[in-house]
Amino acid sequence: MSETRIEQLCVAKNMKMTDQRRVIARVLSVSEDHPDVEEVHRRASEIDARISIATVYRTVRLWEEAGILDRHDFGDGRSRYEEVTDEHHDHLIDVKTDVVIEFQNAEIEALQERIAKEHGMRLVGHRLELYCVPLAGSDDDAGAS
Ligand SMILES: [Zn+2]
Repeated sequence: MSETRIEQLCVAKNMKMTDQRRVIARVLSVSEDHPDVEEVHRRASEIDARISIATVYRTVRLWEEAGILDRHDFGDGRSRYEEVTDEHHDHLIDVKTDVVIEFQNAEIEALQERIAKEHGMRLVGHRLELYCVPLAGSDDDAGAS
């Protein structure tokens, strides 16, 4: 199997790679959502049952510190992880279903830079999470006209 981007970054940063870490790297690489440690552990155990939750916890913390993973808290106090991407994106969270939508918005990006500048600062990063519920009438047949 080919190396994942996470594995390549670990090698580039001279981080030790074990078989278990490679499994965790693979799980995170194929994840299109934002799994927490328990979910990463559940997926990793399907590949290698010997992987403990403590190993997953240590590994994601290490990779977060190394800038390989991004950690998010989408309002429920749980740490969720995703691979750091070249393309910046923000998150919209449906608080009813916990579904997370990724989006990019040039106006928001420009606005944030302008606000920082107005305060005599240069923007070097930001986090934006929008907590939402579906518009009334947009879910199933409620209020169908
Ligand atoms: Zn994301």
